[in-house]
Amino acid sequence: MNLSTPRPQADTGAAPDWDRVRQDFPLLMREVHGKPLVYFDNANTGQKPVQVIGAVDEFYRRYNANVSRAVHALGTEATDAYEGARTKLARFLNVRASELVLCSGTTFALNLVAYSWALPRLKAGDVILVSRMEHHANIVPWQLVAERTGASVRVAEISPDGSLDLDALRRAMTAEVKLLAVAHVSNVLGTVNPVREICREARKRGIITVVDGSQAVPHRKVDVAAIGCDFYAITGHKMCGPTGTGALWARREHLDAMPPFLGGGEMIKEVSFEGTVFNEAPHKFEAGTPNIAGFIGLGVAVDYLESLGLAHVEAREAELLAHFTEELQKIDGLRIFGTAPDKAAVVSFLVEGAHAHDLATLLDLEGVAIRSGQHCAHPLLQYYGVAATCRASLAFYNTHEEIERFIVALNKVRKLLG
Ligand code: PLP
Repeated sequence: MNLSTPRPQADTGAAPDWDRVRQDFPLLMREVHGKPLVYFDNANTGQKPVQVIGAVDEFYRRYNANVSRAVHALGTEATDAYEGARTKLARFLNVRASELVLCSGTTFALNLVAYSWALPRLKAGDVILVSRMEHHANIVPWQLVAERTGASVRVAEISPDGSLDLDALRRAMTAEVKLLAVAHVSNVLGTVNPVREICREARKRGIITVVDGSQAVPHRKVDVAAIGCDFYAITGHKMCGPTGTGALWARREHLDAMPPFLGGGEMIKEVSFEGTVFNEAPHKFEAGTPNIAGFIGLGVAVDYLESLGLAHVEAREAELLAHFTEELQKIDGLRIFGTAPDKAAVVSFLVEGAHAHDLATLLDLEGVAIRSGQHCAHPLLQYYGVAATCRASLAFYNTHEEIERFIVALNKVRKLLG
């Protein structure tokens, strides 16, 4: 295992040795129920390379201290590493570090937009437009805001193949729409939405855009500035980083105009009983002690992904997806949900005669980890008229051999259930 942070490698360079890359992920070496683990639940959370695990471990062993408070050496080292992670993440997304709010993940990021941007602005008659394929984190905060302001939530429908119906979306962008919230990549269907084009259309109509990038940034190069949105949310644990880390990027003018969401230490310049002067954004939105170790780990996760090259990651996952889809299509009675032309390595499926939970439970006994259920996307499953699906989601560290093992296991459990 290589504990040092790998050297960044240009995306145009040679593809990494994926077998060697896999060695960086100790968890993938374990067995489950006496069988070698096949981890196909990456859309749920990703595994961590030793470089990230080592960075978190090193923080607690060598320089654990609170950030932005202490003048002692440990405090300075911790603050430098924490702010260094913000800088790395900003560069990774092609945004300014001063516009990047560090927070616990996409759920927090979207709630921050809902409570701090939308709640003070929306009023009765306004519309929040969301797509049918959103994760609950990009639905429920808007419903809560709608309830309190009298605004309503409108749904932009999808086509049966799981792609967004762009004509319907354009038609839905009426004058009442003040905000559009859309996933960059669907966590259930894998659909990659043309967010650049969508944001351009919205901008023409003066609609504020919120893009949920949770499932995009781990799998392809994302240039947030080029997308042209107003807000972009990410979560760290799906991109090789620790849980409880994430970020919201927002245009400066929004950050300056938004009131703080949570009050406390770190987010102020001066406090007296007569009133409080808030810190500048992004610190204005970062009350309390953050997940310092987590963000330091996330900074190393960014280094790690860059060292692989996001273009290589994308190509590797596309190749795994093609193989996986081809094998699944050979199985009688297997239905795939989501066949959009541009899709990430996420495959939701059902097998005739077998309940999704039963399949997932029996697959677990074969060492195969997938997710079953509604994937925090009830409205999407309602569209397809199913109560649950199985979802297998792959990452660059998965292998063709694991795909073969998955298919053998699936055929075995299918027979047991049949
Ligand atoms: N949005 C999408 C598309 C997701 O897949 C997820 C996580 O599954 C989230 C939002 C919520 O992310 P978190 O729970 O890390 O805040």
